[in-house]
Amino acid sequence: MPFQPLPQDQPSAILSCPDCHASWLIYEQQVGLPITCPGCGSTARPTHLGHTKAGSGRQVSFPSFRRLLEQPDTAHRVIPIVERWLNLRYEGALRFVDPAGQPVLLTEVHFQLQGQAEWQGAIYNLFMSSVR
Ligand SMILES: [Zn+2]
Repeated sequence: MPFQPLPQDQPSAILSCPDCHASWLIYEQQVGLPITCPGCGSTARPTHLGHTKAGSGRQVSFPSFRRLLEQPDTAHRVIPIVERWLNLRYEGALRFVDPAGQPVLLTEVHFQLQGQAEWQGAIYNLFMSSVR
Protein backbone atom coordinates (compact mmCIF):
# COMPACT_ATOMS: atom_id res chain seq x y z
CA MET A 1 0.00 0.00 0.00
CA PRO A 2 1.48 3.38 -0.89
CA PHE A 3 2.23 5.72 1.96
CA GLN A 4 -0.72 7.95 2.85
CA PRO A 5 0.10 10.92 5.09
CA LEU A 6 -2.23 11.76 7.95
CA PRO A 7 -3.57 15.33 8.03
CA GLN A 8 -1.19 16.23 10.87
CA ASP A 9 1.88 14.86 9.07
CA GLN A 10 4.22 17.44 7.62
CA PRO A 11 6.88 16.80 4.98
CA SER A 12 10.16 17.72 6.63
CA ALA A 13 12.89 15.44 5.27
CA ILE A 14 15.05 16.98 2.54
CA LEU A 15 16.11 14.74 -0.35
CA SER A 16 18.49 15.48 -3.19
CA CYS A 17 18.54 13.69 -6.55
CA PRO A 18 21.97 12.27 -7.47
CA ASP A 19 21.17 12.70 -11.17
CA CYS A 20 19.75 16.23 -11.52
CA HIS A 21 20.55 17.62 -8.02
CA ALA A 22 16.98 18.79 -7.47
CA SER A 23 16.03 19.05 -3.80
CA TRP A 24 12.59 18.35 -2.46
CA LEU A 25 10.73 17.55 0.73
CA ILE A 26 9.15 14.26 1.72
CA TYR A 27 7.40 12.93 4.79
CA GLU A 28 9.59 11.47 7.49
CA GLN A 29 7.81 8.13 7.03
CA GLN A 30 8.95 8.00 3.40
CA VAL A 31 12.66 8.22 4.18
CA GLY A 32 14.31 5.07 2.84
CA LEU A 33 11.37 4.07 0.63
CA PRO A 34 11.83 3.85 -3.15
CA ILE A 35 10.98 7.28 -4.50
CA THR A 36 10.97 8.97 -7.90
CA CYS A 37 12.67 12.34 -8.40
CA PRO A 38 9.96 14.96 -9.14
CA GLY A 39 12.52 16.89 -11.20
CA CYS A 40 13.86 14.32 -13.66
CA GLY A 41 11.96 11.14 -12.87
CA SER A 42 15.12 9.33 -11.80
CA THR A 43 14.57 6.37 -9.49
CA ALA A 44 18.17 6.44 -8.24
CA ARG A 45 18.34 6.43 -4.46
CA PRO A 46 18.15 10.10 -3.38
CA THR A 47 20.55 11.60 -0.86
CA HIS A 48 18.96 12.44 2.48
CA LEU A 49 20.18 15.96 3.25
CA GLY A 50 18.52 16.33 6.65
CA HIS A 51 15.41 18.08 7.87
CA THR A 52 13.79 21.45 7.66
CA LYS A 53 13.57 23.38 10.90
CA ALA A 54 11.06 21.50 12.99
CA GLY A 55 8.14 23.14 14.68
CA SER A 56 6.63 25.37 12.02
CA GLY A 57 4.08 22.71 11.08
CA ARG A 58 3.29 24.74 7.99
CA GLN A 59 5.13 22.88 5.25
CA VAL A 60 3.28 22.17 2.02
CA SER A 61 4.40 19.05 0.16
CA PHE A 62 5.64 19.19 -3.41
CA PRO A 63 2.54 17.46 -4.87
CA SER A 64 0.30 19.91 -2.99
CA PHE A 65 2.33 22.87 -4.23
CA ARG A 66 2.07 21.58 -7.80
CA ARG A 67 -1.69 21.21 -7.37
CA LEU A 68 -1.90 24.87 -6.29
CA LEU A 69 -0.26 25.82 -9.59
CA GLU A 70 -2.43 23.48 -11.64
CA GLN A 71 -5.79 24.60 -10.32
CA PRO A 72 -6.92 27.85 -11.97
CA ASP A 73 -8.61 29.20 -8.82
CA THR A 74 -5.37 28.96 -6.80
CA ALA A 75 -2.84 29.41 -9.63
CA HIS A 76 -3.80 33.04 -10.19
CA ARG A 77 -3.01 33.74 -6.52
CA VAL A 78 0.13 31.60 -6.16
CA ILE A 79 1.95 32.48 -9.39
CA PRO A 80 2.24 36.27 -8.84
CA ILE A 81 3.71 35.85 -5.35
CA VAL A 82 6.19 33.20 -6.51
CA GLU A 83 7.25 35.50 -9.34
CA ARG A 84 7.71 38.44 -6.96
CA TRP A 85 9.45 36.61 -4.12
CA LEU A 86 11.84 34.51 -6.19
CA ASN A 87 12.23 36.98 -9.06
CA LEU A 88 11.01 34.42 -11.58
CA ARG A 89 8.66 34.56 -14.53
CA TYR A 90 5.91 32.02 -15.13
CA GLU A 91 5.77 30.65 -18.65
CA GLY A 92 2.75 28.40 -18.21
CA ALA A 93 2.60 24.60 -17.99
CA LEU A 94 4.33 24.61 -14.57
CA ARG A 95 7.49 26.24 -15.96
CA PHE A 96 9.33 29.11 -14.30
CA VAL A 97 12.35 30.93 -15.73
CA ASP A 98 14.87 33.22 -14.01
CA PRO A 99 15.63 36.79 -15.19
CA ALA A 100 18.18 35.38 -17.66
CA GLY A 101 15.49 33.17 -19.16
CA GLN A 102 16.97 29.98 -17.75
CA PRO A 103 14.40 27.39 -16.65
CA VAL A 104 14.14 26.79 -12.91
CA LEU A 105 12.95 23.37 -11.80
CA LEU A 106 9.61 23.37 -10.03
CA THR A 107 11.18 21.30 -7.25
CA GLU A 108 13.73 24.06 -6.75
CA VAL A 109 10.96 26.69 -6.61
CA HIS A 110 9.14 24.63 -4.00
CA PHE A 111 12.32 24.05 -2.02
CA GLN A 112 13.18 27.76 -1.92
CA LEU A 113 9.67 28.67 -0.82
CA GLN A 114 9.74 26.05 1.93
CA GLY A 115 13.11 27.26 3.17
CA GLN A 116 11.82 30.70 4.19
CA ALA A 117 9.37 30.87 7.09
CA GLU A 118 7.31 33.81 5.84
CA TRP A 119 6.93 32.36 2.34
CA GLN A 120 6.22 28.92 3.74
CA GLY A 121 3.44 30.34 5.89
CA ALA A 122 1.85 32.22 3.00
CA ILE A 123 1.82 29.15 0.73
CA TYR A 124 0.42 27.10 3.59
CA ASN A 125 -2.42 29.58 4.10
CA LEU A 126 -3.25 29.48 0.39
CA PHE A 127 -3.19 25.71 0.49
CA MET A 128 -5.45 25.51 3.54
CA SER A 129 -7.97 27.92 2.05
CA SER A 130 -7.99 25.87 -1.19
CA VAL A 131 -8.78 22.53 0.48
CA ARG A 132 -11.69 23.84 2.52
ZN1 LIG B 1 16.40 14.13 -10.51
